[in-house]
Amino acid sequence: MIARRTLSDLVHERAGGRCEYCQMHQSLQGATFHVEHVVPLSLGGGTELTNLALACPACNLKKADRIEAIDPLTGQTVRLFNPRVDAWLAHFRWEEFEIVPLSPSARATSALLDLNRDRRLRIRRAESTFGLLPPVTC
Ligand SMILES: [Zn+2]
Repeated sequence: MIARRTLSDLVHERAGGRCEYCQMHQSLQGATFHVEHVVPLSLGGGTELTNLALACPACNLKKADRIEAIDPLTGQTVRLFNPRVDAWLAHFRWEEFEIVPLSPSARATSALLDLNRDRRLRIRRAESTFGLLPPVTC
C-alpha cells in the first residue's frame, strides 16, 4: 500500500530539504523546518502548493506575516523574494559562503532575514564539508 503524501511532504520534496530562502539544508539541523505560507493567511494566502514554501525556523520567524520589506539600498518598500514566483538564482548568487542579493526584493529579503549572519556562515561552512553546498537551486 502506498501512503498518501501530504501537502507537507510535497513541499519538503519540492524544496529538496532546503530552506527556500537561505538554502540551508535540513539534514544537519536539529529543528524541523516549517511549511510556511508565502502570502500569509491573514493577507489572503491559501494553504496550497502554489503558496507554500519550506523555510528554516530562523527565516520563517523573521519573515513572519510580511510580504514586503525595506530595500536597504534605496529605502523603498519592496515585495520580498517569493520562492513560488522568483527563481533563486535570478535574485541571489553565492560568494563562497555568503549570499549576495542581486535585486531590490533580494536585498530586502536578505536584510530582513539576516541571510549572512555569522551562525549561518558557520553552518554553510559545515554543509560544504558534507558536500551540501553550494546547492542546486532553480
Ligand atoms: Zn532559511
